[in-house]
Amino acid sequence: MLRSYEDLPSTPVSLQSTEDIMTGNWRTMRPVIDEEKCIRCYICWKFCPDMSIEVEEADDFPTVNLDYCKGCGICANECPKDAIEMVREE
Ligand code: SF4
Ligand code: SF4
Repeated sequence: MLRSYEDLPSTPVSLQSTEDIMTGNWRTMRPVIDEEKCIRCYICWKFCPDMSIEVEEADDFPTVNLDYCKGCGICANECPKDAIEMVREE
């Protein structure tokens, strides 16, 4: 068990850039955005810790980059319109 930074190995913990690590395959639940409810406030974009919410152009609906979304559910929790449902992966 790691208790402090002194317990960490003296080598990099990860040998790859985070861009190379497709964290989407960690996911058990996926966010699904209901465009009927979405008001395009982009609070989900602001709160996603993985930058997995994407907005291509101003006023577009947000989309989820499933290559990196870990399914943490923060976006769904923060959405003021309950426009994001977390659904179980098949
Ligand atoms: S937080 Fe909810 S309402 Fe706002 S952009 Fe995201 S999905 Fe849409
Ligand atoms: S479930 Fe988590 S990682 Fe995926 S888009 Fe929402 S906030 Fe980002």
